[in-house]
Amino acid sequence: MESAEIARRFLRFFEERGHTVVPSASLIAEDPTLLLVNAGMVPFKPYFLGQQKPPYKRAASAQKVVRTLDIDEVGKTTRHASFFQMLGNFSFGDYFKEQAIPFAWELLTRPESEGGFGFPEDRLWATVYLDDDEAADIWRKAGVPQERIQRRDLADNYWHMGVPGPGGPCSEIYYDRGPEYGREGGPIADENRYLEVWNNVFMQYQLSAVRTKIDFDIAGELPAKSVDTGMGLERMAAILQGVDNIYEIDTTYKILDRAADLTKTRYGRDERADVSLRVVADHVRTGVMLVADGVLPSNEGRGYVLRRILRRAIRNLRLLGAGEERYMHELTAVTVEVMGEQYAELKADAPQIHGVIDAEEASFLGTLRTGTAIFDVAAEETKRKGRATLAADQAFQLHDTYGFPIDLTLEMASEQGLQVDEEGFRRLMKEQRDRAKADAAAKKTGNADISIFGTLLEKTGKVEFLGYDHVTAEAE
Ligand code: ATP
Ligand code: MG
Ligand code: MG
Ligand code: MG
Repeated sequence: MESAEIARRFLRFFEERGHTVVPSASLIAEDPTLLLVNAGMVPFKPYFLGQQKPPYKRAASAQKVVRTLDIDEVGKTTRHASFFQMLGNFSFGDYFKEQAIPFAWELLTRPESEGGFGFPEDRLWATVYLDDDEAADIWRKAGVPQERIQRRDLADNYWHMGVPGPGGPCSEIYYDRGPEYGREGGPIADENRYLEVWNNVFMQYQLSAVRTKIDFDIAGELPAKSVDTGMGLERMAAILQGVDNIYEIDTTYKILDRAADLTKTRYGRDERADVSLRVVADHVRTGVMLVADGVLPSNEGRGYVLRRILRRAIRNLRLLGAGEERYMHELTAVTVEVMGEQYAELKADAPQIHGVIDAEEASFLGTLRTGTAIFDVAAEETKRKGRATLAADQAFQLHDTYGFPIDLTLEMASEQGLQVDEEGFRRLMKEQRDRAKADAAAKKTGNADISIFGTLLEKTGKVEFLGYDHVTAEAE
């Protein structure tokens, strides 16, 4: 089943059950506390918070999302993409878990010929929050035997926004991919074998204080209970297309395959090269989707997320032996073609998308050319001295003189089995900033403005999924 068809089926199923189908919002979040939309519920947040009255009681969407927190997982796990699509059904004070769970079960197990996804019942597992007997009962009634319903604690099966507001237990659905993917024993034992495909959040409580993900106070029940769900389209595609991971599904594999062709690499021969091919395919796709939504590479905010993603793709192409060749144009073209099936606007915007990505490639290749030579000398010297850590001043020089972002230095060092004195690096960065401030209080320097992130962090507290670390580190 093609990716586009998975989205169509999901939306049709919920449309037939009284949900209004709402088009995906842009990846650029309207929400000022977020850089990029990272979940299907984000555009509906004002409804859940009671700040706006929803024009419908039930909605369904296929939302584009980017998760910076997952960038480092890409290519290494079988299930984490940096851009993916979250299919979701939402109830704003309408139905609650008694209906959400049977909806989910029906859609997953209904035969393909009748509009469902045709999963064999005995492949499905559910998790519920420790004390959520209600959800466990509903699952049992729906047809899941006791032994395939597992209980998990706050860290895994409770949702809130990291700030006072709505929260509640969630229930996740896992597909058993079989013994060749890992240990038996359900999702608690192995999240690779048991692939999480769908999360159902039951918003039920008003949280008054949130100290950490697992430490908060419940002030009482919400006046209206709501449901927010998120199903990973790419994970569904991996199962329905019978492939091992989300980088080998219809949309992503064509990009991966072209990258392999261009770099004359055979996929499936060598794990390191495979990881690079997956990173390239994933990141080009994410880059294209971000540019299409109007993000431009820069040294701050979402522009930096984009820059980091594009540069990582470009560098992984070097690891695959691309040398001085420029391959981003062709990879962008395939991406526009495959993603254009679901997002027709990509085709019209192709010239603009190419322009942005080609320019970033040209400028980064220049940086890489000089910086890599300097890095190699520094790494060599470090090893010769019998040290395991690249000195702070070397990382700083790479950044300051050659424009090497610290995470690039970290990544390259780790490929050589080296660490980097990151703390020392940050100290040098801070000293430089302080000097610049003192030197020229009047003369505005070209330092990127990172104050916005400080402000965001203050406002939102630690919001786990944003990856502020990377952003602030780089904006320095
Ligand atoms: P995981 O535990 O596998 O990291 P999650 O619990 O972080 O997933 P949720 O926040 O519950 O994921 O998101 C809802 C759904 O979105 C998941 O059930 C999964 O199907 C999908 N999903 C989450 N993260 C990714 C990702 N990085 N790439 C692809 N799909 C994802
Ligand atoms: Mg996750
Ligand atoms: Mg999970
Ligand atoms: Mg989850």
